[in-house]
Amino acid sequence: MVGTSEAGRTWRRYAAAVVSVAVAAALRVDFLISLGTRMTWLTYYPAVMVAALYGGLFAGLAATALSCLAAIFLWPLMVDQPFVRDSADWLGMAVFFANCAMISAITEAGHRAQARATQAKHLAEAAEAANRAKSVFLANMSHELRTPLNSILGFSDLMRGAEGASEDQRKTLDIINSSGEHLLALIDDVLDMAKIESGRVSVDSRAFDLTSAVQDVATLMRQRAEAKGLQLLLDQGEDVPRFVLGDAAKFRQVLINLTGNAVKYTHQGRVTLRLRAQPAGADARVRLVVEVEDTGVGIAPGDFERIFEPFVQLGVGATKTGTGLGLAITRQYLQLLGGTVRVESAPGKGSTFRVELPFALADESQVLAGDAGRGRVVGLEPGQPEWRVLIVEDQLENWLLLRRLLEDVGFQVQVATTGAEAIGKFKEWRPHFIWMDVRLPGMDGLEATRRIRALEGGNDVKIAALTASVFNEQRADVLAAGMNDFVRKPFRAAEVYECVERHLNVRFRREAARVGRAAGKDAAPMPGSVAALDDTLRRELSNALVSLDATRIQDVIVRVSKANPALGEVLARHAERLEYTAMMNALATGGTAPAKDAS
Ligand code: ADP
Repeated sequence: MVGTSEAGRTWRRYAAAVVSVAVAAALRVDFLISLGTRMTWLTYYPAVMVAALYGGLFAGLAATALSCLAAIFLWPLMVDQPFVRDSADWLGMAVFFANCAMISAITEAGHRAQARATQAKHLAEAAEAANRAKSVFLANMSHELRTPLNSILGFSDLMRGAEGASEDQRKTLDIINSSGEHLLALIDDVLDMAKIESGRVSVDSRAFDLTSAVQDVATLMRQRAEAKGLQLLLDQGEDVPRFVLGDAAKFRQVLINLTGNAVKYTHQGRVTLRLRAQPAGADARVRLVVEVEDTGVGIAPGDFERIFEPFVQLGVGATKTGTGLGLAITRQYLQLLGGTVRVESAPGKGSTFRVELPFALADESQVLAGDAGRGRVVGLEPGQPEWRVLIVEDQLENWLLLRRLLEDVGFQVQVATTGAEAIGKFKEWRPHFIWMDVRLPGMDGLEATRRIRALEGGNDVKIAALTASVFNEQRADVLAAGMNDFVRKPFRAAEVYECVERHLNVRFRREAARVGRAAGKDAAPMPGSVAALDDTLRRELSNALVSLDATRIQDVIVRVSKANPALGEVLARHAERLEYTAMMNALATGGTAPAKDAS
């Protein structure tokens, strides 16, 4: 096919040369016959130009040669003498030939430049199309994976908060929830890398509880470490500030990646997560130094740089379970946050990853003002209208969860599973608020929104999109369709309530505000004086704490429990959260755990 069309093009070029010269000759012997022998080449120049413009160098040269032949053979028809009478005629023809060759060459150069530009444009278009295809693939993949995760995270969270759940059930639900979060993190790894590569990642800086974030990660990782028979120790310096301003999600991700690797690549011994803070220039800033030290397989010095590249996995004694992206993302995130990461290691002995990261200091009120400290929504305040909320969502597990979240606090809820049904329900039921899934079978959420907005009263209802897309670009689409807001799946209960709160005049009843996940427990003082412990137990507990040996600490606590169950329980709770410094301080002062460490 390609060969045939190429041959066809060549013939067309030469045909253009023949036709243009034929026209030039016809003009010469017909309309311009009165010129006689003067201006011999008058019509042939344009003929050559046309041929060269259409067919390039060879068509131009062919037209030049044909022009010469036509001039020679037509001449006797116009005047009764031969074309070449003297050398000046030869010279005239040579000049014509040279000029035309030049015109053809220049036109050919133009042709080639244009072809190159067209090819570059096609390549750019192909690259853009490939990029778009990748984005669509990522958006689809993320949708498929996030939708079921939404149910896992949402329902386990709901059940955790349900009255009557036993402590055991809560713990199991905690594990389901944190595993779900882990899975989500893995999905996000792949997506994050794609986003980093296309320059779509930005820093989201807010006040957050640093100590609580570190302890959350330690608790999560401790489960994995203990499952492998490893110890996970948290050694947090006194100087580490509790509240800082920074990108909590990326910081958490960095900690999870490094600690997760340390656990993954260590088969015996321990993993230590060490945090220190150094003053950094300005008053209200600190330089946080995080070291993740393990006694694992280690890394050869020649690989220190390579491991930070995407998809590099060394596979030394390692189970290749990861994606090879963790460290690449870690380094990219740290660069974005103004930090650094280095590794020191010796094969067979273990590795230490050292992160340095600046943070601005924040205070508790800033964190409380943020989302984290607002406390769980438990109901609607009395004396409000009956709020009607319509959920438009085709996936059963998603609308079940959302309906439960809304009904539990006292909203009137109806569900529509298609765009058409949503329009019908809007007309007859007049909801105050609509949760609109963007992807629906048939008419999608954007179209359904546009149609509702066009109805009478359609501009009064608040509409928020529910989408599993990872790209913020979709925000523009949903706003353009007339929606008021946008919540991404998997959504947290708090996000759902806050979105409704932003747009309707609803007032929620909330649990007492708290900071971090278990602040209520943390504030608990160690009952009775720790000083009341007998000397042997005190000394043993103190030594166990200094050794950072979790099993040893556990043993002593069991013995404390026998003598003083209440104190034993509180110590166990602090130990479970790796609050060794707080316990040491309590032992030293013989009083209660200081608030700073009891986070
Ligand atoms: P993944 O862990 O998913 O393979 P990473 O980017 O997190 O990908 O790590 C890249 C490679 O670096 C790992 O495959 C492993 O070979 C090596 N590595 C990372 N952390 C450690 C560690 N703490 N000890 C030994 N090797 C490590």
